[in-house]
Amino acid sequence: MIQDSAITVVEAGEACEGEGQVIRLILDVFGEPVDLVIKVRNEQARLADIVPPARTVSAKITDKVNEMVRFNGGTIPCRKGCSACCNYLVPLAIPEVFRLREEVFGMPLVRQLLIEEGCLSAARLILGERPPASFAKPASSRAADSAAELLNSASSWYADFELTCPFLHKHTCTIYEERPMACREYSVTGSSRACADGAGEPQGIYIPARMSEVLSRLASELEATNVEALIMPFALMWANENPQRDERTWPAPLMVERFIEIIREALPKSSVEILARA
Ligand code: SF4
Repeated sequence: MIQDSAITVVEAGEACEGEGQVIRLILDVFGEPVDLVIKVRNEQARLADIVPPARTVSAKITDKVNEMVRFNGGTIPCRKGCSACCNYLVPLAIPEVFRLREEVFGMPLVRQLLIEEGCLSAARLILGERPPASFAKPASSRAADSAAELLNSASSWYADFELTCPFLHKHTCTIYEERPMACREYSVTGSSRACADGAGEPQGIYIPARMSEVLSRLASELEATNVEALIMPFALMWANENPQRDERTWPAPLMVERFIEIIREALPKSSVEILARA
């Protein structure tokens, strides 16, 4: 069951009484301000608890970037109902994996079984093939490759499977409000035909602070692991096999402090103000 979270994002000006901290964050997105207020209770939080606030932050940043692209004459075809890129590789940060598992558990059983079946058949297909050559290198020599290079090579390898996402049903994302950061933070300019049938290269829109990366880094710092991500078909199975990692907790104020610091490394002109501390 999804519990009331110790960490929430509220609208600026919303009532801020109660135990804990109220933090105002003004992000600098290409010189434009994005105003957020985060409320944090003095409680323990799991990695999954940071995901809903991160979704709000992601939405505010991508909305601002898209607004600027449109202001400069760009056309963005991405919208709810378009599934042109729903066969792409979707990596999920560990906090997202645990949150998604809870959300799937909240769905009707028939839907859960369909998702499980879709994930299993995709996973079987993937495990039956060799991974990209760069993944077979020893970790020491792989460190020289950038994360972006590794992701690109994994993405083109994954594309050959021509798998549609297990969450896509009749061309509609069934978890649109809860979709992964990688889906939220990928949008293009031009025509959706570029994504659907290769009519030209889709021009991806640059997002200066991606919550997919922020969450991966936050989890790796808190858990003292490498930066990890799971590809969609394996995510729920992996979460089921690692419940002890989902049960770990940290003080929510500490988690939020690191979350904000990691965002500010990507957006260094942003500012933070403590509005209340109780
Ligand atoms: S989660 Fe939704 S938006 Fe993302 S790839 Fe799957 S169906 Fe598409």
